[in-house]
Amino acid sequence: MSRPKGAPGTDAGEVVERYRRHVNAGLASLFEFMGFEAVEWEADGSTIWDAEGRDYLDLLAGFGALALGHRPAAVVAAVTDQLARMPLSSRVLLSKPVADLAAELAAILPGDIEKSFFCNSGAEAVEGALKLARLHTGRPGVVATEGGFHGKTLGALSVSGREVYRAPFAPLVPEVAHVPFGDRDALATAVGSETAAVIVEPIQGEGGVIVPPDDYLPAAREICERAGALLIADEVQTGLGRTGAMFACEHSDVVPDIVCLAKALGGGVMPLGAFSSTPQVWACLEENPLLHSSTLGGNPLACAAGLAAIEEITGNDLPARAARLGDRVLNRLRELQAAHNDVVADVRGRGLLTGVQFRDADVAALVIAGLAQRRVIAAYTLNNPEVVRIEPALTIPEADLDRGISALGESVEQAKGLLAQLD
Ligand code: PLP
Repeated sequence: MSRPKGAPGTDAGEVVERYRRHVNAGLASLFEFMGFEAVEWEADGSTIWDAEGRDYLDLLAGFGALALGHRPAAVVAAVTDQLARMPLSSRVLLSKPVADLAAELAAILPGDIEKSFFCNSGAEAVEGALKLARLHTGRPGVVATEGGFHGKTLGALSVSGREVYRAPFAPLVPEVAHVPFGDRDALATAVGSETAAVIVEPIQGEGGVIVPPDDYLPAAREICERAGALLIADEVQTGLGRTGAMFACEHSDVVPDIVCLAKALGGGVMPLGAFSSTPQVWACLEENPLLHSSTLGGNPLACAAGLAAIEEITGNDLPARAARLGDRVLNRLRELQAAHNDVVADVRGRGLLTGVQFRDADVAALVIAGLAQRRVIAAYTLNNPEVVRIEPALTIPEADLDRGISALGESVEQAKGLLAQLD
């Protein structure tokens, strides 16, 4: 018999108050506004329980980090085993988890990308990729895309494409140009002899789940080659099965020079990021191997999680499952759009990275609040608040996925009802 869920004695009011006083008062208000005022306590697969024992269906999967759901048994077992022996590295002896994970990644990464550096987050992976591109080419410039999201450290922010996050921190890293995503001509014009790299998400996640034209990535590959620049694929969100292929750049048969990973790489148990490249590009980092380093990046616990995560994703062919379930989600979203064309402008995505574009960000916020009332967790995309993303674990039970999409439909109806009352 399973024990009752929840944590008797946890006072949600006190947690909110401590957020307000000691974390960030604005963040506490944002949680309240979205209708998420409960304290998360325990989770399994695609279900979360709050401190009062109420269950929630998770359609967000930690912004994609929980590709295997919460607490996947194989990853927990691998991390527990490592924890019992050596959680953190001496940093002076060789670490087997690092070596094994780098070798496993080399086996699944596209083309001859076979060298990896491990860090703790997506933003750090992007920082490393940008540094590598500058070092290898001896050039300063980077071309990035409008609406792109690469993280919020200074370098990653400099190549991200939403002014509201960028402007307060100006001046950012220089020599960065932004061009419209999906526009090959604009890219060709912006890339020149001073360009170290083009950084692009194969499918923009936080930009609002935007799938570019089929020829976009191949064109980017060609433009970079012609200019002697490197192509960085930021697969932090799209990588490791999310879009129905192991890496989203494989949909267009493009092999980038550098790939950034994070989120799903840690198996939903540990923070883990990586940037990876070919021996030829990597050579510049090998002359002085301490040019780029991290005390905690690539620690044994995280690498053990990464190894187990890759084994789970490949062993259970989760990219194929994401492709199949993604088609099903998109079909249902298309029905939703047909029924609510007045508020839904578009539905789109690939695999289990899908989104609903509302005509108005306020409607999107009302829909998220409606989902919260139904104890279904979803969120808008960071660089485009008009888009509500459906980005569950790749392991989500089909019945739960169906229930979540039905709740989305009910929430759209409810939002329309509320708006009608205001009219
Ligand atoms: N790159 C992409 C494509 C992302 O979607 C994100 C986060 O959403 C990042 C980088 C930054 O990752 P992190 O939040 O782990 O720094």
